[in-house]
Amino acid sequence: MTNGNVPQKAPGLWQKVLDRVKTWSRTQSPWLIHFNSGSCNGCDIEILATLTPRYDAERFGVQLHGSPRHADILICTGPVTRQARERLLRTYEQMPNPKFVVAVGACAITGGVFAGCYNVIGHIDEVIPVDVYVPGCPPRPEAIIDALVILLQKLAAGPKIEEAAS
Ligand code: SF4
Repeated sequence: MTNGNVPQKAPGLWQKVLDRVKTWSRTQSPWLIHFNSGSCNGCDIEILATLTPRYDAERFGVQLHGSPRHADILICTGPVTRQARERLLRTYEQMPNPKFVVAVGACAITGGVFAGCYNVIGHIDEVIPVDVYVPGCPPRPEAIIDALVILLQKLAAGPKIEEAAS
């Protein structure tokens, strides 16, 4: 799109403005999707507590949503069972870029007490890339909020390097 007053590089400029608006929107309201790939539910209870008014993650604009197609952040708990692997992958692949993953709890990070079980294939980063790890069994809501704040900083920095290059 050109006219007499707009320089040749205007489309690039508009793209930069649009990217800034998108980044600003994401940092104001990052949407979460929660996936339990085989946890004992202890970590899931802490995630839900984090989202209640007592810990109030919503003050950062964080909201839980049901569809991966609307989510910026995938928050995962538990080791990855054979049954959950494909669902975890499909959920991750359905999320739009840039997308981020938080692994909550010892089981999500290492397999924890379930490591070596016949039905467990490993931990989260053996299936999808993880951006932030939250250790603990289970981690407290304050630690989960810390992870979300780190992610907000990543969101503010823009797309991941490999996505920007593609
Ligand atoms: S880290 Fe602890 S609370 Fe969380 S899923 Fe594993 S055993 Fe359960």
